[in-house]
Amino acid sequence: MQVIDSAKDMQREAARLRAAGRVVGFVPTMGYLHEGHLSLMRIARERSDVLVVSIFVNPTQFRPGEDFDAYPRDYERDARLLQDVGCDILFYPNAAEMYPDGYRTYVIVERLGDVLEGAARPGFFRGVATVVTKLFNIVQPHLAIFGQKDVQQAAVIQRMVQDLNLPVEIVVGPIIREQDGLAMSSRNAYLSPEERRDATVLYKALTRAREAVAAGERDVETIIASMEAMIGQAASARVDYIAVVNPQTFEPVAQIDRQVLALLAVFIGSTRLIDNMLVTPANRH
Ligand code: AMP
Repeated sequence: MQVIDSAKDMQREAARLRAAGRVVGFVPTMGYLHEGHLSLMRIARERSDVLVVSIFVNPTQFRPGEDFDAYPRDYERDARLLQDVGCDILFYPNAAEMYPDGYRTYVIVERLGDVLEGAARPGFFRGVATVVTKLFNIVQPHLAIFGQKDVQQAAVIQRMVQDLNLPVEIVVGPIIREQDGLAMSSRNAYLSPEERRDATVLYKALTRAREAVAAGERDVETIIASMEAMIGQAASARVDYIAVVNPQTFEPVAQIDRQVLALLAVFIGSTRLIDNMLVTPANRH
């Protein structure tokens, strides 16, 4: 595996690969890799000749007071996992390489980037859209894989790629979960053993929503109330938001008459976790 830390060198290598007719697949990450990340890399591997992964904890998507400094980092372990999964190139820039002195340009995706995660974390999607645009220009991938775990992020990037005519295909990979349903996340490393047990309420609340809809419940207020009650059962849990939205527009839904997306953000102690599930009403007879 080649490790490249300079944007210029990465661009040169990407141009060379493209000129040689190689299909470049790309998985951007913030590192501290887990099976969720690796699953996206396997999807990329299958569909491309060269797998490029980036590890960059992007400062512009964190607000002051968020966990930028505390975000878990383990380069040696990540490098081993990347070797094993068959990564060809690791792009591993530092913050000064991505945002040198005098940096002034940002990408904003309106509406989709302002609701839910965007409302809870102002500036978050501006940081994400900006860094992903930069990474696409540096790595020049034919396809890039994102996780359904961060479903709104995937939608924001798809919107941006379409709006800005970026020549890259976006593929979305399924959520990888622990055995008890907790969605894998680098941030799960923050949880104490008690909090780790409490953290299963996110998946349980989503499952409860899915089961209620399958049993015929159509009223979103009722569903959200029962999800809140489930979260309330965990001592360390505090709801940030629970929403049921149209999976394309992310606009709230009141009555369920087609597939919807249930999403939630929950603080477990001081750790903020997110999860989501597509929910489909049973066929009418
Ligand atoms: P991150 O390192 O958290 O920025 O995540 C990098 C990519 O991995 C993003 O596209 C995430 O959506 C994806 N990802 C994170 N957790 C999971 C998971 N549990 N299952 C599938 N994809 C994931």
